Amino acid sequence: MGKVYLTGAGPGDIELLTVKALRVVREADVIIYDRLANPEILKEAKDGCAFVYVGKEDKHHILPQEEINEVIYQNALKYESVVRLKGGDPFVFGRGGEEGIYLKERDIEFEFIPGITSAIAVPEYAGIPVTHRGITVSFRVVTGHESSGKDHSQIPWQNYKTDDTIIFLMGLHRLEIITKKLIEIGKPKDYPVAVISRGTTKYEKTVVGTLDTIWELAKDLPTPALIIVGKVVNLREQLKWFKN
Ligand code: SAH
Repeated sequence: MGKVYLTGAGPGDIELLTVKALRVVREADVIIYDRLANPEILKEAKDGCAFVYVGKEDKHHILPQEEINEVIYQNALKYESVVRLKGGDPFVFGRGGEEGIYLKERDIEFEFIPGITSAIAVPEYAGIPVTHRGITVSFRVVTGHESSGKDHSQIPWQNYKTDDTIIFLMGLHRLEIITKKLIEIGKPKDYPVAVISRGTTKYEKTVVGTLDTIWELAKDLPTPALIIVGKVVNLREQLKWFKN
């Protein structure tokens, strides 16, 4: 039986892969990877390494999570060193915990390798710090993908009145609903928002607006994209550095 490395691939820029992740990728007998993991990383694998794509879309998963769990398990029965390569960090809306539990229940050894999460790195490449002295003392990372069918939202919207920075992942297709909701709870219409598409890569696009305007400005950006709401967005003017 093999060992599974539940590994973060970072947010896009291949150089944001950790040294540890690179080592296990180079040693892997099989790599099971996502759509969000930069495929360039696979070039680092040794000759004869097998590749399994379990790509996920933002709106619908191509493979249901249960099947991905099973694919990882089956590969662990077959290979000695299994790398499960996931975009960003495995624990930030990455379902790494579910994969770990599935393996634990089947007595498969595993290790987590943290990755640089898009939630922080993508705004950072766009010159937007998630915290900044004198502007905000905390930040939240929230799913923007909460199923709209539910009549009861799990998101505690009322808590979001503060000036905490809010980063929504998986939310581009719900940008209009999210911004309307924030206005509804009392945030000013001219409150700063940015949408960053394909962050940390040469295709990066950042659009800056307000709660009122961003939807119109950013709705056609390609995914993956994240939404960042907060006064820190204004710092981009001074901190913008990334030329793609
Ligand atoms: N585990 C990942 C997040 C998985 S959820 C991490 O830690 O980064 C997937 C969401 O992440 C996407 O819908 C998008 O909102 C965000 N995302 C991932 N990579 C991104 C990128 N390069 N640019 C912008 N957003 C990105």
